Order: sequence, then structure tokens, then C-alpha cells
Amino acid sequence: MAQRPLTLMAVHAHPDDEATGTGGVLARYAAEGVTTVLVTCTDGRCGDGPGGVKPGEPGHDPAAVAAMRLVELEASCAALKVTHLEVLGYPDSGMMGWPTNDAAGSFWTTPVPEAAQRLAALIDRYQPDVVVTYDENGFYGHPDHIQAHRITMAAVELTGSPAKVYWTTVPRSGMEEFGKTLRELGVEFPEPDPDAPPAGPPMGLPDEEISTWVDTRAYGPQKFDALAAHASQGENIFFLRMGKEKFTELMGVETFVRVRDTTGAPLPEDDLFAGLR
Ligand SMILES: [Zn+2]
Repeated sequence: MAQRPLTLMAVHAHPDDEATGTGGVLARYAAEGVTTVLVTCTDGRCGDGPGGVKPGEPGHDPAAVAAMRLVELEASCAALKVTHLEVLGYPDSGMMGWPTNDAAGSFWTTPVPEAAQRLAALIDRYQPDVVVTYDENGFYGHPDHIQAHRITMAAVELTGSPAKVYWTTVPRSGMEEFGKTLRELGVEFPEPDPDAPPAGPPMGLPDEEISTWVDTRAYGPQKFDALAAHASQGENIFFLRMGKEKFTELMGVETFVRVRDTTGAPLPEDDLFAGLR
């Protein structure tokens, strides 16, 4: 029986999220012959415009920003050797509380079952063995990330087919080192204040709650290039300022929580496809 190649699908909210959270696994598994599918849910129109102009400022043209970001996304996919890029094209909802949250057709206001149907059709077409998305807080509370999580979990329910589903996360143990490096590079990254009330659910997880640690250091340069393809976005600049070597050192191991599994692969694991090959 001819074997179908293994397939990885990553579902992300905006152009550039694929690079920061899953650039390593996309590049690594593509190099191993896995078919990789990136689904980007929104058009990124609430991102920075050319010259760093912020949304809502004069000269910020959301349609032009979306067009620019699609070109960047395609360049990032080329760097990561993504096999198939699928853009759902929902209008970016902007950060939590922005008026764009409620704009007609925004991803955040799209009923979950409606968007989940579209994603389920892609799952049916590509038959991914592994699907990766965010946790229920969208990792850091962005409405489009939360919505990407919701539609992915709904689409997995609808299709029932992916053998494994993961949520991206970061180890809290690594965040201190990360903050220190950024401060050394002159980036404002607040020292943790033990007395301050938390602004939201804490980011990341204690090491023992992380099920899956994937070494992608060999693909650090590709991940860096993917992020560099999105250099129009101010928030990416501090990563790029690290340079490839430091970036790979800090961002070279990608971590996940396995939330669905039909393989019985023992945990912790170091491969999203453990139990499938
Ligand atoms: Zn995002």
C-alpha cells in the first residue's frame, strides 16, 4: 500500500504568527518530507503600515496593509518551505477592546461554526495527522488568536480526523532568560513584579505541564528568515535585533501541549509525529 506522506497543519491568526510560534516545526518537518499546511485566518489589516504607521493613524490604509502582509506571508512560507498556504481572509479584529473587534465581518464577530466549517473543509482536503493551534487564551489574549483556537477545536470535532492536536506554549522557566536577553539588547521588557496583580492569565506553562519539546535549532536560521519577511511589523524587530545565533539559542526549541492523541505515544515526547511513524 502506498503510504500517504505525513501532514502537519498549523492554524494561525495573523501573517507572522506562523514564524514566531511554529517556524521551527514547519521548517523541520518540511525538511523531513512531511507535507506542511499553514492556515492563516485573518488578513492582518490591523498591523503596522509602511514606515511603521499604526492602525487608526493618518496614512494607515487597512487594504494596503493586508496586501503588503500577504506578500510577506508568502515570503515567510517560502523561507519555511511550507507546502500549502491557505488564507481564510477574515478582517483582522485588532487588539482586545479596539473598535475593529466589532467591525462587520471581523474574525472575532464571525460565528465559530461558520468559520469552523471552512477549516473543517481544509482538514478534509489535506487530512492532517497533526494540527497545531493556540490555547484557549490565544496564548496572550488577542481576540483573533482566541478565535483561531475556537474554530480549530470546533473543526477537529466536526472532522474527528487528526490523530494529534497541540496547543503552542512556552516554558515559564525560559521566560526569565528571554526577558534578560531582551533587556540586554535595549528592548523594554518589564521585570516581573511579584506584587503586581496579573493583567490576565499568565503566559506559558510550568515545565512539567509541557508535553512536547521539539528541537528545531537546526532550522533557527530559516525561522529567523521567516520572521525577517515580516519586518514591517514593529513587534518583530526586537527578535530580529538578536541576530540569528542568539535568536536560535532562545527560540530554537518549540514547546507544545498535546490535547488530543489517538496514538498512545508516551509523554513527554520530542516529536509532534511520535507514534505516527
Ligand atoms: Zn497574531
